[in-house]
Amino acid sequence: MAVTAHPLATETAVAILENGGNAADAAIAAQWVLNVVEPQSSGIGGGGFFLFYDARQKKFFSYDGREKAPEKAFAEMFLDANGRPYPHDPSRITGGLPVGVPGILQLLDLVYRKHGSGKFSFELLFDPAIRLAEEGFEISPRTAHYLKKEEARLRLFGETRRIFFDERGKPFRAGHTLKQPDLARTFQLIQKNGPEIFYEGEIADSIVEAVKNAPFHPGLMEKEDLKNYRIAERAVVSGRYRGYDIFSMGPPSSGGTTLLEALNILELYPLAEYGQTARGYYFFSRAQALAFEDRNRYLGDPDFAQIPVGKIISKEFARQRNEMASGAKRPRNDSAVESPNTSHISIVDEEGNMAAFTTTIEAMFGSGMVVPGRGFFLNNELTDFEAVSSSEKNHPNAPGPAKRPRSSMTPTFIFQEGRPFLIIGSPGGSRIIGAVFNVIVNIIDFGMTLEEALAAPRLIHRGTGIEAEEEFFQQSEIVLGLEQRGMKVSKTDRIGNIQAIHFDSRQAVIVGAGDPRGEGKAKGY
Ligand code: GLU
Repeated sequence: MAVTAHPLATETAVAILENGGNAADAAIAAQWVLNVVEPQSSGIGGGGFFLFYDARQKKFFSYDGREKAPEKAFAEMFLDANGRPYPHDPSRITGGLPVGVPGILQLLDLVYRKHGSGKFSFELLFDPAIRLAEEGFEISPRTAHYLKKEEARLRLFGETRRIFFDERGKPFRAGHTLKQPDLARTFQLIQKNGPEIFYEGEIADSIVEAVKNAPFHPGLMEKEDLKNYRIAERAVVSGRYRGYDIFSMGPPSSGGTTLLEALNILELYPLAEYGQTARGYYFFSRAQALAFEDRNRYLGDPDFAQIPVGKIISKEFARQRNEMASGAKRPRNDSAVESPNTSHISIVDEEGNMAAFTTTIEAMFGSGMVVPGRGFFLNNELTDFEAVSSSEKNHPNAPGPAKRPRSSMTPTFIFQEGRPFLIIGSPGGSRIIGAVFNVIVNIIDFGMTLEEALAAPRLIHRGTGIEAEEEFFQQSEIVLGLEQRGMKVSKTDRIGNIQAIHFDSRQAVIVGAGDPRGEGKAKGY
């Protein structure tokens, strides 16, 4: 079964599985298709985190394909002449400065070599995407909506306008058949020459030129930065929640540690007994808030800062934190509203191998810049660094040379008594963690089916008050009860776009579902 954020990527993944490919092969082919059909969310110009479960070895692997800052990056790079952070949108997220060295191609190359079935060559896995890029596909309502919403930023870049705007200079609408011959050629060049052409050859030249000569906030990337980029294999972070075993992504993502800490704190309360009441949701929110504070304090690139992972995910620490009052201070930069820009892929194959792959170019359409002649968007991932003032240079998530910005991506597997239970992940910037937390708790504590768990209104707490989706306010007595307990509750736009697979042992079925908030699709065979 495969679940992705776009039906065409799901179809591709299932076709690969049906023809003898495994979960790794299917995820790779799906990513290239997503680059074509969901260009706002992910692609070869971005980065991601790949969690893989090898069923034969019964082993978990996690790969960090996070973008890296160029060598010339420095702590104050996002401060203006007066030492104030650039406003988050559009100044900080657009143009050359926030572009990190892309990791996706090297990530998938490594995943292929370590876990691919060998039934398909790495090159062949580009074919479905090349076909869609050449023949065209119909722009979906969601992509069209975001093209319109981001029009002002995208307009700054001639190449972006050339590909995504019509002759009248307006973004294409839903239903328009979009062809992307440049992107097809990029994929073909890689098929022919291997990933080196991207990291050292002519595509690297084009990327560096686009970043350095950006018409808006020119960036700092050099060819050496691309050449020196390396994927990191990281230790999977794991823990237990009410008897379920959780496996997730560790630093530089804050996803796994924050999810586990929140679950550990929540486990101290009998949530199933409280049920979906004000009391229940109070502890549900508070656990997220406490964990999020620690995320902001401790998490960053483990190659540059000591991250106390063992402590953060321990039961003992959860008990200590639970005793302490929440000390939430001012919101940090990422409390800006973040829309579901990223993409998540969940796959299980016939042998039981599993992939949970969250992939991103950061903001909607990343930096807004398509690399001239190459057809893909460059990320703006470096905005996930804290835009620190000089006094905070030592923050674990301060920008720095060759450093990876902290992420919130949370690709996760859950097992129950040694058997797979859930594959899950979501976009949503720093709201990802809360989105995943909501669905897990809905299933485990509130006994919901996957579909119910996805449909339920989400409520997250990033340390500065509860943010709840609109439908949550229909339960006014719960909202009131939360406010009486001292929680500030505010309405927010949609949280996340989860793609998940649930192994429902009660009904002996595998259920896949895309989030009703998006256009995702599940398909099994
Ligand atoms: N850049 C974000 C992260 O790595 C993901 C962006 C999003 O999902 O909107 O956490």
